[in-house]
Amino acid sequence: MNIESRNKRFRVFATCDIGEAIDLLRKRGYEVEVYPDPEAPPKKLILEKVKSGIDGLITTLRDSVDAEVFEAGNGKLKVVAQYAVGFDNINRADANQYKVPFTHTADVLTEATAEFAFFMMGTLARRMWQAEHLTRENHWGFWHPYLPFLGDEVTGKTVAVIGTGRIGLAFIKKCVGFDMNVLCYDPAYQNDAFVKTIQEIHELRFARGLVREKGHIQYVPFDKALRDADFVSVHVPLLREGESATPTYHLFNDETLRHMKPTAYLVNTSRGPVIDEVALARALRENWIAGAALDVYEKEPLPADSPLRDPAIADRCRLMPHFASAARITRLSADPDKGMAGRCVQGLIDVLESNYGGDITRMPYVVNKEAFEK
Ligand code: NAD
Repeated sequence: MNIESRNKRFRVFATCDIGEAIDLLRKRGYEVEVYPDPEAPPKKLILEKVKSGIDGLITTLRDSVDAEVFEAGNGKLKVVAQYAVGFDNINRADANQYKVPFTHTADVLTEATAEFAFFMMGTLARRMWQAEHLTRENHWGFWHPYLPFLGDEVTGKTVAVIGTGRIGLAFIKKCVGFDMNVLCYDPAYQNDAFVKTIQEIHELRFARGLVREKGHIQYVPFDKALRDADFVSVHVPLLREGESATPTYHLFNDETLRHMKPTAYLVNTSRGPVIDEVALARALRENWIAGAALDVYEKEPLPADSPLRDPAIADRCRLMPHFASAARITRLSADPDKGMAGRCVQGLIDVLESNYGGDITRMPYVVNKEAFEK
């Protein structure tokens, strides 16, 4: 910390309570105000706080951060610390224009999110939700080879992983333990060394007699991934038109959903707008695909009139409340190497206390480093 930062009492507004990590800031002499309600604060309040001259703003994916917020910061707002890995609620171009760095909490939620996606896949395919309802509602009248319904095995099947960044790769590691073949698709980042390692693991498992058939993993085009997979799991950021050469907004739509097998299942733990929900509800109603498990939605919380709530598809459509990273240590640990809370606060401290010699491009949790390159 340089002398100037040591003598300054930083003021921070957090749009929601992120647990004991806030105390770390207070112990360092920061003045921290935490929005007390569980719902997101209105934008008007965020603007008011920023206008009042705060140095740092802690946000979640519920808060829209754009030019209006940066303008209100009037050169005083020094950092936005996002409590999430995804940052589609923050307008990156606006942050760059106003030269405000923003941080995120990548890596610490990778395994939690990947395992949740894997569990959703199993819950959906093995029909665990219906099975428990059957028991609880006392409709379990007999044991029978195929009545009242059967599910589909996950073991040994082929899974398409759309987006092979941090969470996509962690998801693949889980799939290998279930002898799954993997089709990877990612137009922007291909981790060939990782794919080679997974292939070696498949070969070792086969050579040592752990599996009867040798598994495989490879990068393939999007269309092939959809056509050949029994399961499709989505791990991309939300990128709208103009934000990327390969946007992900409505990547799954009327056309692409039809490329999947009628026996295939779709799992989405990425961001809701990556799937056109009207098209998906239709795909389920008309049996273009066998089922879907979703953790994220075009509008959150899921509206009462969402087509995904159609009772006609309830047995094949699992709906989770944006819950994939919702595990105790992942969400709340104040250790920046373990928890989102710790990493969020550390990102804020790095900027405000001019760590890394004040060089924002060297700060590990800052996203928009491009705005600070000399
Ligand atoms: P990441 O940046 O490491 O990986 C994303 C990958 O998607 C990258 O490799 C990128 O090249 C790829 N990609 C970009 N455009 C693509 C396209 N058109 N088609 C296929 N792949 C494309 O990010 P991550 O840490 O793995 O997180 C992924 C996303 O998961 C986050 O952006 C966030 O939105 C979401 N997420 C959701 C939850 C949850 O609670 N449900 C939790 C954590 C993350």
